[in-house]
Amino acid sequence: MRAAILHGKDDLRVEEVPNPPLQPGEVRVSIRAALTCGTDLKVYRRGYHARMGVPPFPFGHEWSGVVAEVAPDIEAWAPGDRVVGANSAPCGHCAPCKRRQESLCDNLLFLHGAYAQSIVVPAEIVRKNLLRVPDTMGWPDAALTEPLACVVHGIDDVGIEPGDRVLVLGAGPIGLMAVALARHAGARVSVIGRGQGRLAMARRLGALDAFENTAPADIVAPPGTEGAFDVVFEAMGRTFAWEAALRFVRKGGRINWFGGCPSGTSVAVDTVRMHYDALTLKATFHHTPRTIRRALSLIAERVVTADAFVDGRCTLSNLPALFRDMASGNRAVKTLVDVGA
Ligand SMILES: [Zn+2]
Ligand SMILES: [Zn+2]
Repeated sequence: MRAAILHGKDDLRVEEVPNPPLQPGEVRVSIRAALTCGTDLKVYRRGYHARMGVPPFPFGHEWSGVVAEVAPDIEAWAPGDRVVGANSAPCGHCAPCKRRQESLCDNLLFLHGAYAQSIVVPAEIVRKNLLRVPDTMGWPDAALTEPLACVVHGIDDVGIEPGDRVLVLGAGPIGLMAVALARHAGARVSVIGRGQGRLAMARRLGALDAFENTAPADIVAPPGTEGAFDVVFEAMGRTFAWEAALRFVRKGGRINWFGGCPSGTSVAVDTVRMHYDALTLKATFHHTPRTIRRALSLIAERVVTADAFVDGRCTLSNLPALFRDMASGNRAVKTLVDVGA
């Protein structure tokens, strides 16, 4: 079969690779939709990922598809089943798993290889994070389950009440999903981000204000926004955005530093502001089996749909060119990769 393999920094190639035989507990899925993601771009630029090891490795982690083959011991799934899988599953027996903090599992194994004609889902993910896709749900909608599950987790961690003023920093796919979920929770939402197309999408998703941020490495506060928000959801993964979140939140407010920053970076926190304004600072990582299920049901309820997030299409053969384009500033929100072409 054909698959996109990351060979190193800025080096993605589409190659013919063997179809490995299934091991006990595994399921082979024919990919019907694979979506690009900001994390993939980060990995492409760095040429490695802490959890994936060193290249070469198959690339892409957001997918949905049809079961093509199951290992002989599998009873719950059969060829033809419509499925979506997470890119990891918690082990269930380490200390963080026992504390119900499954996103921090000591033994998370990451699954990659969505940009391919098929993917082998490991036994642990088949058992815990492979879900049935309703017949009425589109393939690109279903493929949003994994990133949405991360955002569901982040919104849950910071708690949103109806009427809350919420500021989302960043208008990429994660920021836009945060807008949709905060609106769904009854919040009044503002966004600061980059790209007129993305900001227009934020408004379509229900944001009351969407401000263009023009400063290259800072966030310039629009008038009346300092100290104004009950919740600030940071979705840029930049240290200046983490620090800006502290300026926008009100006394007693909550921040989620959701975007992961490069390793070795740190931010400064004003201790007086932190203590006397009693801020709550959270940082959410990844998803849990519960948020994966919640994400799929939010997609089924059409709170989040692919038409708001997928604004480009690409063949598998053209994927290396697409990543070169993304690395040099293409601002598509998400691109649907047609693995059959
Ligand atoms: Zn992703
Ligand atoms: Zn665990």
